[in-house]
Amino acid sequence: MFRSLHMKLVLIMVLLIISLMTVVGAFLMNAVVRYYLDDFNTRMSSMFSAQDLYEDLTIPYDGEANGVEGLQDVLRANMGELGVDGRTRYYFILDGTTGAYLAGSDDQLGQNLDKSPNVLRALATGEPATGSDITADFMDVAIPITRGEVTYIIQIYDNRQTVTELNGSIFMLIIQALIFGLISSVLLSFLLAKTMITPIERLTAGAKRVASGDFRKLEVGSKDEIGVLTATFNSMSRQLQATIREAENERNKLDTLFLHMTDGVVAFSQEGGVIQKNPAAEDMLGRPILPEDTYEGLFGDLAPLEQILRLEQPGYQEIEQTVGNRTLDLLLAPFDQESGQGGVMVVIHDVTTQRRNEEMRREFVANVSHELRTPLTNIRSYAETLVDSAGDIPPAMEKNFLGVILNESDRMTHIVQDLLTLSRFDSGRSELKLERFSFQVAVRDIYNAVLMDAQRHGHTLTLDLSPDIPDIVGDRDRVLQVMMNVVSNAIKYTPDGGQIAISAGRNPLRVWMEVSDNGIGIPASDRPRIFERFYRVDKARSRESGGTGLGLSIAKEIVDRHEGIIFLVDRPGPGTTIRIELPIEGPAHGK
Ligand code: ADP
Repeated sequence: MFRSLHMKLVLIMVLLIISLMTVVGAFLMNAVVRYYLDDFNTRMSSMFSAQDLYEDLTIPYDGEANGVEGLQDVLRANMGELGVDGRTRYYFILDGTTGAYLAGSDDQLGQNLDKSPNVLRALATGEPATGSDITADFMDVAIPITRGEVTYIIQIYDNRQTVTELNGSIFMLIIQALIFGLISSVLLSFLLAKTMITPIERLTAGAKRVASGDFRKLEVGSKDEIGVLTATFNSMSRQLQATIREAENERNKLDTLFLHMTDGVVAFSQEGGVIQKNPAAEDMLGRPILPEDTYEGLFGDLAPLEQILRLEQPGYQEIEQTVGNRTLDLLLAPFDQESGQGGVMVVIHDVTTQRRNEEMRREFVANVSHELRTPLTNIRSYAETLVDSAGDIPPAMEKNFLGVILNESDRMTHIVQDLLTLSRFDSGRSELKLERFSFQVAVRDIYNAVLMDAQRHGHTLTLDLSPDIPDIVGDRDRVLQVMMNVVSNAIKYTPDGGQIAISAGRNPLRVWMEVSDNGIGIPASDRPRIFERFYRVDKARSRESGGTGLGLSIAKEIVDRHEGIIFLVDRPGPGTTIRIELPIEGPAHGK
């Protein structure tokens, strides 16, 4: 109930009333005393200056001996005008030279009374003395009178009882007014509290609500300063809400970006604790990043935290690291150095494919150079021999040499053609000429085309076609090229007199063709690599049979383009089985 502001208000009101009443009371009581004092002095002055009284006092009666009696008679006769009542005001007749009490309206009081300052002054000067000290508890006048030969002093003495009584009443009145004032001030403070403190309290409650995130508008109850304050508060909270919403929006965007970005990001505090991390980072590092993980534990062996923190922005440190079979490029940079609340951000970029491609490119160039150099060296050495021994060698040998030269240049042409085909695939310049054709007929055509060659090698070539093979959409020539390559390999890598089986069929969405042989087979360690460019299990044997090591990689490119698959069937026993599967309706995007 008595909250601080309310209490203060009551206290202020009470103090105000008390001080007001005290000042008013003091002034009033002082004014009353002064009024009475002035009134007394004026009255006495006018009484004694009046001719009648003064004359009556100074002119003695004929033959009268006792002046005091005469004086007393005159004074008694004027008691009414002088206000002498014997209770509050008295007259005393004093000796004009000694100031001793001679007679008066109250002998007991007169005899015991000390000489007042006025009496002393009148004795000293012989002049009437008026004017009393406001602080004294009495007021008096002393008038010297010469009656005949003798001098007297008439003292009119007032004990101020009237004033004291009046002041007492005033005091009581002020106390009553004070009590009344205090009661009304407390009531008034309640009223004030209702009109002033309640809106402030409402505003305070609203501010608390806003601080806790509830931005509902406050009701503006008045047009006064508090009303203006409430309206200002409302607009401030509106702005705050908009700003917070904007910041949240930004944060959400960043969070989403952070969550789905392909680069891994881990942020550390200055002390090395994990502040943020995204799934990509965990995936690349191949381990979960837990809250208790530290920079030291994760990247400490690559670069010390202090070293990164000391870097000047936009400086960063780049480090390549291998994690499992991945090559990671790590960028370590400090952030928010000025605020003192920054830390270190580690951005992880997976460069495995990039590095592998670079490696493959290097290997490829080396392979190409090597593949071309071998026939070139052969051509050169045979040509040199022919030139050097011009006419010396027998014609049969010469023909043989020329045959080798022709063969080698054919091989080079073959390699260059294959390379051009691959390069066209790589650059996307080679487009498939899609058409609907009979897959069954294509397989049969291949069978017929290689039959002679197979028989020459003493192979048994069989063909097993399911009756339900449908027409498919594809580039017929390219598909035939793939089939031919696979079947030729089977013939090439099977010692004479082998078994080669071609079969084909369909499943719901695809057609397939399998070529199996019982030849030299492919060792398990080489199996994953035979579709790579220039990869050959036995280089010499491949070269002997006119192979370039590019056939299967071209076949794979073509099948990929058709959105089909070509793979080595994992089958026990000697020999090799290669399977091709192609979608019946062709590649979805029609390339
Ligand atoms: P190449 O021109 O040398 O035949 P390919 O790309 O067609 O090149 O084949 C790659 C390698 O795969 C060959 O060198 C060979 O070692 C191996 N290979 C392919 N088919 C067979 C098969 N049927 N039997 C054994 N090895 C094979």
